[in-house]
Formats: sequence, structure tokens, C-alpha cells
Amino acid sequence: MIYSKVIIVGGGPAGSTCGWKLRQNGIECLILDKQEFPRTKLCAGWITPRVINDLMININDYPHSLVKFNKFHVHIYSKELKIKVHQYAIRRHEFDYWLLKRCGVEVHTHEVNDIKKEGDYYIIDDQYYCKYLVGASGTHCPLYRTFFKHINPRAKDLLVVTLEEEFPYDYHDENCHLWFLQNKLPGYSWYVPKSNGYLNIGIGGFSEKLKANNDNIKNQWQFFVKELKRLSLVKNYNFNARGYIYYIRNSVDVVQNDSLFLIGDAAGLATKDMGEGIGPAVKSGILAADAITSGKPFSLSSVKKYSFPRYQTVIKLFVTYLINQRTKIE
Ligand SMILES: Cc1cc2nc3c(=O)[nH]c(=O)nc-3n(C[C@H](O)[C@H](O)[C@H](O)COP(=O)(O)OP(=O)(O)OC[C@H]3O[C@@H](n4cnc5c(N)ncnc54)[C@H](O)[C@@H]3O)c2cc1C
Repeated sequence: MIYSKVIIVGGGPAGSTCGWKLRQNGIECLILDKQEFPRTKLCAGWITPRVINDLMININDYPHSLVKFNKFHVHIYSKELKIKVHQYAIRRHEFDYWLLKRCGVEVHTHEVNDIKKEGDYYIIDDQYYCKYLVGASGTHCPLYRTFFKHINPRAKDLLVVTLEEEFPYDYHDENCHLWFLQNKLPGYSWYVPKSNGYLNIGIGGFSEKLKANNDNIKNQWQFFVKELKRLSLVKNYNFNARGYIYYIRNSVDVVQNDSLFLIGDAAGLATKDMGEGIGPAVKSGILAADAITSGKPFSLSSVKKYSFPRYQTVIKLFVTYLINQRTKIE
């Protein structure tokens, strides 16, 4: 059996950041991921300056595609707001692979299925064992399933379903567009141009709310692609979207159980307003590494709950105003 003091299950942003920080702290660790990198990860690839800061990235040194947005075009019903921002977009298969290599930790391609505790050690599939085990394997994390599900069940109403596609496209509109409340979608849809001629489009919405409206994400996708055609944003393209599910942040009080730690999507950390998960994944990876190093309790209370906390009141007032206006017209 292979031993490492710390084993991290999952080499996405949460896992690679945790490995990166542990290595800086001088702690031996190993990353297991079921996929060989570079791997596809469904994601719009929007990252905030906080992510760049937390990861100590000098953007001039980043060797892959990176787009900077100075404004978001936000569409709410028929209104368009141009909101000044300072944000970035990367392509996940490039970004995640780069982070994984940069962290300098040994990576084994291995799908984790069975985890048990024997004495002070965790045994993984009878092939690996460790003292500390970190669950960074997203929504379907085996650590969550085995050790946390019963003490920290995920709330069904926070489950988000998505459909998305990233493809080479000769786009003429270089802006990032976001549509809220379009076609009664309980979520939002996006159009994110990437560098080197790639375009990422997608939709995400709360699963329970869609069901309550007798709706589903596929219907919403059909509406969305028609809109993209109508707006001449994407034409003459045969879409082949793929889906993924993840959880928006709930109370994530129980993220440590003995020497087990949950980070990133495995802990359900995506922000309440935008479903942003990369930033919280990175931050939680750093916090877990520091907790393992110091032996202090692990808490995620400092991981932000909103992507744009300052805009929350303004957005709520604006949406209420628009809903009232529409009700008057109807
Ligand atoms: C359509 C869509 C769009 C999104 N857009 C954005 C966005 O623009 N910006 C943003 O900030 N967030 C976005 N998110 C959320 C973001 O993608 C996630 O929150 C983020 O990837 C979480 O990182 P992670 O490291 O926790 O998990 P992941 O990135 O999912 O990495 C988990 C890793 O674990 C591995 N793994 C899984 N199971 C096992 C196993 N049993 N054994 C071994 N390895 C395993 C996987 O192969 C994977 O590499 C989006 C999500 C979706 C679905």
C-alpha cells in the first residue's frame, strides 16, 4: 500500500490549491484524481481578482488563454445594465492542469470508491493509506458520501442543474452577457467569449424551482439557444450541451470529521448570488491546508457567501421594481 501523510481526493482548484499550500507548509501529500489531466470540466471559467490574489498568480506569467472583462452586460427582463467590473475568464481544462502542475504534488490517476478507517489511518481502496484525508472531488465526493452525508445532508432546494457548451466560434460580440429571470428561469444564462476564438454559453437554475414550474433545464436550453440566434450572437451552430449538477452554499458547519476535511464543491460552497465556485474552492483549499498544518479546527466561515455582496440590496430593489412594472402591464 502507498502511504502519504495527507491524501487529497480530487485535483480540481480545491484539491490543487490545498496541495500547493501544504507543500509550501512543508507537509507531504498526494493527490488522487479519477481523470487524467488536462480534463474537461464544465464551467464558464469566470474568475475574480480574489482568485488571482489567493493563488498568487502574476497574470503576465499565466501561459494560457485569459480574458479580462471591464463590464458585464446584465439583462433582466428586457432591461440591459452595463455594470463596471474587473473580472477574468479562463478555460478550465487549461487552468486546472496548470494549477495541478504548479502545485508540485505527486498525482495518481485513481478513482476513489471505498474509504475506511483503521486505527489512526484512512485506507483507500486497499491501495493507499494516510493520516489526513481531504475530500476535494466535487458534488459526488466519496468522502462526503461516506462520512458527512448523514451529519451534514445537502438541502435539495440548493441543487443547481446546468447545461453548457464551450466551442470554437468566430464571435463578433466580445462582451460578457448575463441574462437573469429570462423565460422564468430560476437562475441565469451566460455568454462568455474566451480568447483564441472560443465561446462558452450555458444556463443554470435551481432544480426544485424548475420542477415546481413544471419546467426543466432542457426546455430552458431550447429557449436560450433560440434567443442567441435571435440576437445574432450564435448562428449556424449545432449545439451539443452537457450537464452537471452542484450545490449552492448552505450552512456548511460540518466540514471536518476527525482527520477528514471537505473543501470546494464537495462542501457545497458556491456563492448564493452567482453560483461562483472556483473562488470558494481555492479559499477552502488554503484553509484546509493551514488547519492540517497547525492542528487548529477547520472552519469555512471566512469563505465568502456572495460574489457581489455590495450589490445585493440594489439588485433586489431593481428586480422587485421590474416585477411590479411587469405585473402592472400584464
Ligand atoms: C456549468 C457550470 C458553470 C460554472 N461556471 C462557473 C464560473 O464561471 N465561475 C466559477 O467560479 N464557478 C463556476 N462553476 C462552479 C465551479 O465549476 C465549481 O464550483 C468548481 O469547479 C469547484 O472546484 P472543485 O475543485 O471543488 O471541484 P472540481 O473542479 O469538480 O474537481 C473535482 C475533481 O475530483 C475528481 N473526482 C471526482 N470524483 C472522484 C473520485 N471518486 N475519485 C477521484 N477523483 C474524483 C474529478 O475528476 C475532478 O477533477 C460552474 C459550474 C458549472 C456546472
